[in-house]
This record gives sequence, structure tokens and C-alpha cells, in this order.
Amino acid sequence: MNFKALAEKYNTPLYVYNLDEMSKQYESLKSAFKGRKAILAYAVKANSNLSVVRHFAKLGAGADCVSIGEVRRAFLAGIPKYKIIFSGVGKADAEIREALESDILYINVESDGELQRVEMIAKELNKTARISVRVNPNIDPKTHPYISTGLHANKFGVDINTAKRMYIRAKNSEHLDPVGIHSHIGSQLTELDPIREASEIVADLVRSLQAIDINLKFFDIGGGLGIKYNNEVTIDPYEYGQAVLGTLTGLDITVIGEPGRYLTANAGYFLTKVMYEKSNDDKRFVIVDGAMNDLLRPSLYDAYHFVEAVDKEGEKTKADIVGPVCESGDFLAKDYELPALEHDDLIVVHSAGAYGFGMGSNYNTRGRSAEVAVEGGEDRLIRRRETFEDLIALEKEYLD
Ligand SMILES: *Cc1c(COP(=O)(O)O)cnc(C)c1O
Repeated sequence: MNFKALAEKYNTPLYVYNLDEMSKQYESLKSAFKGRKAILAYAVKANSNLSVVRHFAKLGAGADCVSIGEVRRAFLAGIPKYKIIFSGVGKADAEIREALESDILYINVESDGELQRVEMIAKELNKTARISVRVNPNIDPKTHPYISTGLHANKFGVDINTAKRMYIRAKNSEHLDPVGIHSHIGSQLTELDPIREASEIVADLVRSLQAIDINLKFFDIGGGLGIKYNNEVTIDPYEYGQAVLGTLTGLDITVIGEPGRYLTANAGYFLTKVMYEKSNDDKRFVIVDGAMNDLLRPSLYDAYHFVEAVDKEGEKTKADIVGPVCESGDFLAKDYELPALEHDDLIVVHSAGAYGFGMGSNYNTRGRSAEVAVEGGEDRLIRRRETFEDLIALEKEYLD
């Protein structure tokens, strides 16, 4: 990819996504479930740009959404309603109502209280709500605590016994139709054992529900498949498929996966330009035009991203790459070996296609970056850079 030409054409800071790479990732996971009824429901929150979601729609993907806004994005992007799932611990009544009216595949319910709200709203609308219950299998996924979700210490889902009670309630309700079961134990998973264990626990629950005549159609294994940021040993998609399918013997059930990061992270790049170099005593800083408001992961999770100084050679020394935002936590990389850099040199932050732009903000009244897609060697703008006018649009009219 010609990063220099892209930075020239669209300016920096800039997100660039290789859609062909996203297709490749999608197909590799899809083929891991070959011969089985399976849907890959793209986790929209990983990268919710409409053109990215549309790209997955064209590949045949469904969508896993965690707000009604994401459900609307999925519809706009052309994902068929029978492949849209609505998850999340705190759905508002209005969101539940709209999801039911839109007739999506199912609502993934995360508490008994939510199940009651869904039932009540379905009744008001004179509908039957298709639901799945998110089970928290209490498995340690061995990932960063901020992105672990499958332990009882995490806020997500319900324990097995509560889930069972909820299914019985749903089965006995005129307005609820239990169609699926769901678990998602965390993100950036690099070990197969916790996934297999969680899948076994959930599959056992499916069997015990069958015994009381509750027959689920969808086995939703969530997302979480890890990627290589640095030197992680990642899970092979085929082995992932085998591990999950191995727990489903004897069950006639459609498998649903909800990959996010796996599909988009390594297809995305964040381009930023060097403004200044400086040293405070021995500490070297490279100040760039991109910041934590563009790419939050280093600040939020202390996440590592591979960084490339484009076309720069020479002896390397350690430096922190920092942005213009007024926070000490505003950095893109720490103690990173870099050659000497000058004004306007281009830095490319890799693996930025997931949880990058979407976690962006306007902190320090900084407009968010533009986003560009590259497909078949052609580049095109898929979100224009925010202007100052965009940033104040919702306040201006209230100025007295
Ligand atoms: C975030 C999330 C995903 C996607 O996670 P990745 O680690 O990006 O694959 C899938 N399902 C649910 C319910 C999520 O919250």
C-alpha cells in the first residue's frame, strides 16, 4: 500500500482500510465452519463505518450490534434483518421497541430484568420476541482484564441457573420465543482451551434444555478471536471451528460467530505525520499530529501497535510517540525504537482497523480523522475529515 501517496492525497491523521484484507479474513473464518449451518455476524462496534459494514454485507455477513444505532447502521449498510442480532447489558425500552418492530433475528438478553422488559414491550406491540440468553460461563479467557467478559466478576450475561430459569419463563410466555443461546468470554483471545470449555458448558445447557422441550436453533459463540499485534501466537481459524463444532455433536443447531477484531484490525492503518522531535534530558519524544482522540487503545489498554517510520533508515533509539492532546496519557507508542525523524515524516500505526476510529472523540476540540478504503488497488474516501463547524454544530444555536 502506498501510504505516502495516501497521506498526500487525503492528509493526516488518516485511517486507511484494506477491504480485500477484510474479505480474506472473513473467508478464512467462514471456511472454518464449512459444511455446517453458520452465520458470521460481524461485530459492528469494531469498525462501524457504513462502507465497512456494507463490505461485509456484500460478503454475506450478518451483524452483531450493541446499540440501536448500530442496528440502524447494519440496516443502512444492507445487512438482511434475519442476520441482525442485538446484544448489550443495558438496552433502553425505546431500543427494545425498535428492535422488535424491525423484526431482527433475535435480541440477546443479558439479565432477568431485561427479559421482563422485552416481554412487556413485545406484549404492547402484540408481537412475539425472538430471544437468546447470554450465558456467562465463568471462564477465564486469559486476556486483558478490560476486555475479559466471561467471568462472574464481569457485568455480562447471567449464570447457568439463571439462564435456565429465563428459558423456562420464555418458553411459557406468549410473547417470548427462545431461539438462541449466546456466550462471549472476551476479546483478543489467543488460547483455545477457554473457548472450548465455554462452548462445552453452553452446549451442555442446550442439551438440558432440549430435555425439557426447549429447542434452540442458534448457538452463538460470540467473537473474541485474537490477532497478531506484536508477537502473539494466535488461534488458527480452522482449529477454532473444530474446537467449537467438537462440542456440538448430536445437536442440529446453526452456529453463529460474532467476530470483530479478527476481521478488521490488521486490515487497518493509522497514518500520522511527525511535527516535532524533542528530548527532556535523556527522554526522547516524537510529537505527531495523531493523538489519543484518534486512537485510544494505547492510552486505554496500554496496547501495543507496530509502528513504521515510512522510508526512514538509520540508527534507532527509543522514543515515545505522543500526540498534541493535553494529557500525559496521550501516546501512540512508548519506548519504541525509531530512526531520527523530521518534520512531515510519515508514521504508520498498524493493526488499527478495529477499535480505532470508533473509540475516537473530539477531546481538545480536535476533529476526527478521515477514513479511506482501498479495494482492488483503488482508494476512496468513506468518511470525510471533521471540521470545526461539525464540532460546534450542536452547540452554536444555544449561544446567547
Ligand atoms: C465486542 C463483542 C464482539 C466482538 O469482539 P471481538 O473481540 O472484536 O471479536 C462480539 N460479540 C459481543 C457480544 C461483543 O460485545
